[in-house]
Amino acid sequence: MSNRAPLSNKEIKTRFEAALMGNYGLPAVPIASGSGVRVTDADGNVYLDMIGGIAVSTVGHGHPRYVEAIADQAAALAHTSNLYLHRGEVELAEKLLELVEARGKVFLCNSGTEANEAAVKLVLKAGKPYGRTKIVATENSFHGRSLGALAITGKAAIREPFAPFGVEAEFVPYGDARALAAAVDASTAAVFLEPTQGESGVHPATTDYLKAARRITSENGAALVLDEIQSGFGRTGAWFAHHAAAITPDVVTLAKGLAGGVPIGATIGVGKWGDVFGPGDHGSTFGGNPIACAAALAVIGVVEDEGLFENVLALGERLEANLADHPAVTEVRGKALWRGIGLAGADSAAVCDALAARGVLANPVRPDTIRIAPPLTITAEDVDLFCDILKDVLSTAPEGPNHE
Ligand SMILES: *Cc1c(COP(=O)(O)O)cnc(C)c1O
Repeated sequence: MSNRAPLSNKEIKTRFEAALMGNYGLPAVPIASGSGVRVTDADGNVYLDMIGGIAVSTVGHGHPRYVEAIADQAAALAHTSNLYLHRGEVELAEKLLELVEARGKVFLCNSGTEANEAAVKLVLKAGKPYGRTKIVATENSFHGRSLGALAITGKAAIREPFAPFGVEAEFVPYGDARALAAAVDASTAAVFLEPTQGESGVHPATTDYLKAARRITSENGAALVLDEIQSGFGRTGAWFAHHAAAITPDVVTLAKGLAGGVPIGATIGVGKWGDVFGPGDHGSTFGGNPIACAAALAVIGVVEDEGLFENVLALGERLEANLADHPAVTEVRGKALWRGIGLAGADSAAVCDALAARGVLANPVRPDTIRIAPPLTITAEDVDLFCDILKDVLSTAPEGPNHE
């Protein structure tokens, strides 16, 4: 691959700390390569990848069809800018509208926060002539780090240091339809919701709550924006988590798993919400990039042709059955292979360190919760292996504070 001299884990970490800003702290594992559901660090240690780059590596690492699509596109054309257009962005937008099962139009960008940023601008533009300036969002939600998306993010600890934002936001408890009804009024431009909150530790909303959110926004003339950046694209064993509630949102945002690891974001405006932006209202130099679009189309093709939704739905039940009655596991939240595993008495960071030492990558999303979101291509053997190692680690884990 490269004629650069090899570097050890330690060397990469030392140079990372010296050259990169401190916003991530120092991540634990310098990953050098990946194959399927396994990654290898710079020292040659192999890990079962149970987090998939935070629900991103949809078809695993190095899937031949995915690699070929990206390589072919890079050779043919890597970039056009938005001064020009190309076939791949058209095909991807058409495909997304087909998958979301609604008429509308798509804006393509490069990340989750940008997809939500576009959605915020879109609903504020549509609402402005009617005095609709307020956005209602939920406590503990996560919508991104740029200022518009951060303004409507319900985690005060990451939002407040950067306030005020110039976006009028009101936060209500997640899952409480009455609180939502009380907050939405004639000044509300939109309600932003994750069908399942990911960064809060994988907390699904009930079908009733999502239906109520649809009803409340419709009755009040506000837009319902569903942030499916983490919940979409296969995480719940479906293209969109909201399909299980049989509702049609006004705007849907996507990113993470959409292109399987190449940066991308998408904002889908359903019906008239696809026609809010006119020329000059919004843009992105890289948005709709040919390589990203080719990668996303390859991901969709692999998911469809390999029956990956059935795979993760079956394996999700297998995992839940395997872990549910372990004494150190309080609950297994979520669906398919996107799970928050609640721990009793053990500190999730210590457990994840122990897992890494045993060759498994998982994410301590909260002090009492481990999050998993592996590639959808994972097998039953690897799910069982994960469960075995986790149970082994939990039976020997250092006691930590119970943070609940
Ligand atoms: C990750 C995430 C985002 C932000 O995506 P970035 O690509 O990191 O900007 C927004 N919303 C949800 C629900 C997410 O999980």
